[in-house]
Amino acid sequence: MSDCIFCKIAAGEIPSRKIFEDEKTLCFMDIAGDVDGHLLVIPKKHRDSVFDCSEEDLEAVMRTVRRVCRHLAEDCGYDGANLLNASGVSAGQSVPHFHMHIVPRKTGDGFSTWPNLPGAKEDLDEMHKKLRME
Ligand code: 5GP
Ligand code: ZN
Repeated sequence: MSDCIFCKIAAGEIPSRKIFEDEKTLCFMDIAGDVDGHLLVIPKKHRDSVFDCSEEDLEAVMRTVRRVCRHLAEDCGYDGANLLNASGVSAGQSVPHFHMHIVPRKTGDGFSTWPNLPGAKEDLDEMHKKLRME
């Protein structure tokens, strides 16, 4: 996509603080400045979100996520990671090129990345009936 900022980063047209890349994926630093070490992993080919990714796209992205997480643990002093994704505007996705966020964690770092959810309104068994895949 010609006007996609992450496509431009993948193509090297916009600079990024690269952590790792392979043939299909790129990991670089998020510029949000919201937490130390916030990283993004993207497929180099444009995909909007999880909904239009192929299995191969997801395999490639998650392989890189695992590789980077192991690097964070083995070489950078971290002992955990949060993996986050927003797919779709309703989910809070602000850049419409599929990406996994990695937030490196250390025991005792004292913050939560779990979303502040509103509390369930529906009966759990009713939701199970609605959501299960027969
Ligand atoms: P989303 O809200 O779609 O889940 O996450 C998009 C992320 O992209 C945000 O955390 C935002 O800080 C990051 N971001 C937006 N524009 C740029 C950019 O030009 N460079 C980098 N490195 N990150 C960006
Ligand atoms: Zn793109």
